Amino acid sequence: MIQVLDKHFRKLFSESEIQERITKMAAEIKADLGDKSPLFIAVLNGAFIFAADLMRAMDFPCEITFVKQSSYQGMDSSGKITQLIGLDRDIKDRHVVIIEDIVDSGLTMYHLRDQLLQQNPASLRIACCTFKPDALKCPLKLDYVGFEVSNLFLVGYGLDYDGYGRQYKDIYVLAE
Ligand code: 5GP
Ligand code: MG
Repeated sequence: MIQVLDKHFRKLFSESEIQERITKMAAEIKADLGDKSPLFIAVLNGAFIFAADLMRAMDFPCEITFVKQSSYQGMDSSGKITQLIGLDRDIKDRHVVIIEDIVDSGLTMYHLRDQLLQQNPASLRIACCTFKPDALKCPLKLDYVGFEVSNLFLVGYGLDYDGYGRQYKDIYVLAE
């Protein structure tokens, strides 16, 4: 058990389970894009740790850049869509993989995907560390999923509770 601010969380996925899953995901991505010099676009802030581990598991030429598009505060998805900032690369004709920490309602990813598709990438895939299938509110196809989880609040491994708890190497779930 850990405490983040006023809440208690229990361990759901250990560091070794996460790393094992990432190794497999990297192999899946390599099979699809290993000869295509893909561009990874990691969504800040939450995906920074997952993106760093996933990137280091790639043993083929690839690039990474970061964007920000936050629509989440505290423990409720506001559903509010904010603007995409920070894309510093021309993605036209590139094979792009979005790297996201968690897909909940899917609205953030749905919107981001739409914005990136307008720039005509050669292909666009989504890799997420965790996915809550029961919370999904839009038709979104995820190409690489680390872990499917039920509709519970997670912290750790980049995921925060009001800004705290991102530094844990394991993934935790709200205990109460
Ligand atoms: P969506 O647009 O899919 O509803 O929400 C996506 C964003 O909400 C994620 O990128 C993440 O920032 C936040 N989010 C959704 N579920 C959780 C959760 O269980 N824990 C944390 N810390 N953030 C979450
Ligand atoms: Mg996020």
